[in-house]
Amino acid sequence: MESKSNKKRIFLSSPHMSGKEQKYIKEAFETNWIAPLGPNVDAFEKEIASFAGTKGAVAVSSGTSAIHLALTLLGVKKGDKVFCSSLTFVASANPILYQGAEPVFIDSEPDSWNMSPQALERALKEASFNGYLPKAVVIVNLYGQIAKMDELMSICERYGVPVVEDAAESLGSTYKGRQSGTFGKFGIYSFNGNKIITTSGGGMLISDDIQALENARFLATQARDNALHYQHSQQGYNYRLSNILAGIGRAQLEVLEERVQARRLVFERYFQAISPIPGVMFMPELEDTLSNRWLTTMLIDEKETGLRIADLLSALAKENIEARPVWKPLHMQPLFHDSKYYPHEEDISASLFKTGICLPSGSNMDFEDQMRVINCIKSVLKGTMQGVVYSDIP
Ligand SMILES: *Cc1c(COP(=O)(O)O)cnc(C)c1O
Repeated sequence: MESKSNKKRIFLSSPHMSGKEQKYIKEAFETNWIAPLGPNVDAFEKEIASFAGTKGAVAVSSGTSAIHLALTLLGVKKGDKVFCSSLTFVASANPILYQGAEPVFIDSEPDSWNMSPQALERALKEASFNGYLPKAVVIVNLYGQIAKMDELMSICERYGVPVVEDAAESLGSTYKGRQSGTFGKFGIYSFNGNKIITTSGGGMLISDDIQALENARFLATQARDNALHYQHSQQGYNYRLSNILAGIGRAQLEVLEERVQARRLVFERYFQAISPIPGVMFMPELEDTLSNRWLTTMLIDEKETGLRIADLLSALAKENIEARPVWKPLHMQPLFHDSKYYPHEEDISASLFKTGICLPSGSNMDFEDQMRVINCIKSVLKGTMQGVVYSDIP
């Protein structure tokens, strides 16, 4: 173990309560709605659907369960193929395995770091040629940045393959004015503790297909048939969100816009302070999109800076600052050792993983906290670089 400083710990992304959560929790207690289902759940679903602009929403116990329900509703089963972004958290793809289906991973492109339309096109063309189109494509919006939706959706529509939009990290981000999560047949959000708003644990499935959402509700409640006795004709799950947690979600949703602004400000400060240093590049924001900047992420060019991200991570750890490498692409994971993979041209996600680092980005980080991170990064980068005029670096 590295010796930790006695300085206050700065987290990558910690929960940020608004103070109004207790009001909804209290209501739940006073009415004794301590159950999965209840008035907070109904209200939270309506509020999310209205925020996103979809016809409906189903509150569930996690983002992962929302993806699982979406794939189930799309009829994904044993032996089917599902395409999925490679550069993402494992939760995007685990539900493919739950269904006994086979994931096929698609690389990122450099402009958004999200699914490459070229690689997707190639993969679908080959699949179509071989007579096995995937049952679904899971498109992830990484760290708040929405993927190239116009291009990706038009390719998927051309092949008639439905899309599940994994917007777990991008709640509050927009693409041409439209909320993330609303592009595919289904979208999912996560309210895990580290996400931009949280219920401590929870998720949401959104769609314009009311009937499909009703089916999701049914499956998420142990697929209980409409009968007095307990009757079941289908396999179900226990995936509903608790009424107490939904109360936390309602209060959190009220401050979502503020949280987006706060995270964008965190990004802006990092960008101003660090981007002038040669060999450093921040995650881009596509034109006509607004990222919630869930995590500020930057790339370090090893040749130009003489620094590997492991060096920077350990320097930050010594200062009691939590930072992380970019997600390890799923096509590089032992779990998916045998899965097929379509790179962009070069392997973009592999190189983002090799050189990318996520910085503390919580909306509750104060200016001093952030200056500690910035000063640490600047001192490490300056310490390793030669031939740079340091007075140029703010
Ligand atoms: C967090 C996350 C999920 C899963 O959400 P949980 O609520 O933790 O189950 C899925 N996909 C991505 C990209 C995530 O970051």
